[in-house]
Amino acid sequence: MNITINNFNNTNINYKSQHKLETFKYKDLKKIPHLTCACCGKEMITVQDLYGAFRTITLPLRSIIKKGFFKSWEQSKPTWDLLNQLATKYPDKSLDQMLAADEDLQTKLTDTIEQSVYMNPKGFKIKDSKQLHNHVNGLYNNIRSYSRSQLRGSGQVMKRFQAFKPILKDEKLAAFEQLEIYAQKYPKKTLSEIIKMDEIYKHHFIKNRIFRYELKEKSDFHFQNIETMLKKSAPKKTDYIMNLKRCAVDLLAREHDVDSRRLKLKDFYINALKELNCEKLKDKVLNEVEEIPIIYVNKDSFFVDAYNNKFNDYQIIISILSPYEATFEHIIPASQNGPDDISNGLVMCPICNRARKDTHYIDFIKYHPLMPYNTQKQILQISQLILAGKADDYLSLYPIQVAKTLSDYTNGAISPDITSYCKKRIKKADNKIQKGFDEIKKIKEERNQMQAEKAELEKRLQELENGIIAKRAQIKQSNSAISHDLGIKHALEKQIEVKNKS
Ligand SMILES: [Zn+2]
Repeated sequence: MNITINNFNNTNINYKSQHKLETFKYKDLKKIPHLTCACCGKEMITVQDLYGAFRTITLPLRSIIKKGFFKSWEQSKPTWDLLNQLATKYPDKSLDQMLAADEDLQTKLTDTIEQSVYMNPKGFKIKDSKQLHNHVNGLYNNIRSYSRSQLRGSGQVMKRFQAFKPILKDEKLAAFEQLEIYAQKYPKKTLSEIIKMDEIYKHHFIKNRIFRYELKEKSDFHFQNIETMLKKSAPKKTDYIMNLKRCAVDLLAREHDVDSRRLKLKDFYINALKELNCEKLKDKVLNEVEEIPIIYVNKDSFFVDAYNNKFNDYQIIISILSPYEATFEHIIPASQNGPDDISNGLVMCPICNRARKDTHYIDFIKYHPLMPYNTQKQILQISQLILAGKADDYLSLYPIQVAKTLSDYTNGAISPDITSYCKKRIKKADNKIQKGFDEIKKIKEERNQMQAEKAELEKRLQELENGIIAKRAQIKQSNSAISHDLGIKHALEKQIEVKNKS
């Protein structure tokens, strides 16, 4: 099926992007621009916009060769010759730009690398074609990532990524703004040169140290307050109480999902209070938990990290922006045979996508209570695009299909409201939408009816059980009455017998 997406309106982000899609595959859902994450609700960047932005500020191939990046290929004639030919032919273009623009060139470069491997295998022994293929692919990706890793001067780079700034938050925004300040001061230097500057590194190193001390001090203070309160209320359980802090710190360290850290810590203390019989302290303890820091990064730790890990220009920018990259999220996980299909898809940021793994949504939303709201928001965004005629007809059933998948999978816990979308579409006499809408309505009614029936049955069962208990009591009573009567009967019989004898 050949599907194209019409040009979407790039209202708030001002960069060129190619939204013409040849065919709409399930993963293309994540290519819809300006969606907000279905879980945390932050605005995301599409992969084509992100790499598109890099492509225009990557250093030209000619400069990369001059810097000696491909020196190891000098002995491998075919590849070395091709790289040099390209550098002469397109002196201003980066290799990544050339490869993105020309698929034939991708094939040509791969073939050339293969020839180079045959002529000069550098210790690589070709066992079979699959191994050769992997090896060549690895080398191709190496060359491509080298050509991506070096960017132009920081002045140009920061200007180019300016378009993404409005969506950045917290420490990522702070790091970005700091880079902007440095880029203004040293526009000709590259980002990686800047972060390696002694004065800059030392400045962030010291600030990061202070930040870490302050974090620890603040945590310790609140943990101590909790401990004092508990010891007062449960003086006999000191050992248990002393162990709580260690477990809590452990829990926070192990929990990669930042969004759920605080809620999990609260659950942890609620359970501990139950164990200690100190539930009356709940509000006070939870107030302390609210103050315990759960985020351990800031812009200074960003610079220290970048320095320690020897980040190249590309890595510096991507580590700020990649948490915002839109990814396809399987509602029913692929590991549980969830289909690769848009009806089983949402779009999430990589942070939420990783945090979810294959947890069932019913469990996941306990620690991500905003998810139902943000999912609704995303479906609404896509619906609006469809209604505005900016998406292909292929997507027109998506809101209904995805609402059905979500509702079925979560037993109604996430049940997006698509009524207004359907009504607007039905106005345009869309039979398919009407059918889907009716189906969803029916499912909802059936679910309600089933729940009512279930409640009715439970009530009936309870009545029956109560009846049985009453009957049992009655039987017991009449049994004792019978045995009482029998006793009297025996006594009378005995008396009669005695009388008859006498
Ligand atoms: Zn998210």
